[in-house]
Amino acid sequence: MREIIKGDVLSKRSEHARILDGAEVSDAVIASVRQSIDEHVGHGGRRPGLAVILIGSDPASAIYVRAKRRDCEKAGITARDFDLPAQTPEAELLQLIDQLNDDPDIDGILVQLPLPSHINEPAVTNRIRAEKDVDGFHAFSVGSLALRQPGLRPCTPRGVMTLLNYYGIKVIGMHAVVVGASNIVGRPMTLELLYMGATVTTTHKFTRDLEAHVRMADLLVVAIGKPGIIQAEWIKPGAIVVDVGINRTDAGKLIGDVPFSEARKRAAWISPVPGGVGPMTRATLMQNTAEAAGISVSRPSLPAE
Ligand code: NAD
Repeated sequence: MREIIKGDVLSKRSEHARILDGAEVSDAVIASVRQSIDEHVGHGGRRPGLAVILIGSDPASAIYVRAKRRDCEKAGITARDFDLPAQTPEAELLQLIDQLNDDPDIDGILVQLPLPSHINEPAVTNRIRAEKDVDGFHAFSVGSLALRQPGLRPCTPRGVMTLLNYYGIKVIGMHAVVVGASNIVGRPMTLELLYMGATVTTTHKFTRDLEAHVRMADLLVVAIGKPGIIQAEWIKPGAIVVDVGINRTDAGKLIGDVPFSEARKRAAWISPVPGGVGPMTRATLMQNTAEAAGISVSRPSLPAE
């Protein structure tokens, strides 16, 4: 897959932060995935296959899964759907994963989280064969990233790196502060940034004096899931702000964790919600699926330290 870079535009500062436009960049990623897949098929290859497993009828999960299926169509990936009832026993789900692990037409297996409470999440994510772990949640995938031998990488943090890369933002040497330390966002985000040569501080709910850490951030990545914790005046002037949080207001509006309008007056770059990290996560799933099928693997180069 060709590298998607918009050029080195970091130096252009205006009064308001420039937008890290995830809608635009995700389209570029999906178009690039599509092109790579079509070329592969043109040379006699098989279209990548993605198994999408949804358990239960959680409305938010159903929306995400529908969107992923649409993305597959755009990217030229064959989606195979498995909609299972909420009471599906764990053993049955594991059995389905085993079958899909052995299915030569399936390159990626996605189990939509969260799972019903009677199912053990790590048991499920670790049952997916690492080569088909397109969400990047398997212990092997995260461990490989930690050891600077990335294979399939967790979608949201990888999507953030693609977004920064597109705008020519190089994190090497920056002080990056990640707020949130979950297995699917905060922790692998820390590993991605470390891999690319940033000095990383990871903060979480037990962090004392969050403000002091945020004030030092050249690059701030926020993934809490609660608006109102990060205050705009904490943001270092000229910082790059990536807002991963997704929250719904009482009026039904989607907002991030960062107060966008005020933060925009201080930051150099900021990602909006919606239209920032969300579409990047979905596009990265398509990229990971293509790569799991052995189609064009693009990897960042290893920094010296
Ligand atoms: P999570 O609940 O698993 O983790 C939240 C993290 O925030 C925890 O590590 C916790 O320690 C930390 N935290 C909580 N209160 C804090 C505080 N006062 N100060 C500092 N840290 C605090 O959530 P998650 O799965 O990591 O998701 C985080 C947010 O990102 C949610 O809004 C979620 O919807 C969103 N999300 C977005 C995408 C996307 O593609 N844009 C993908 C995944 C998650």
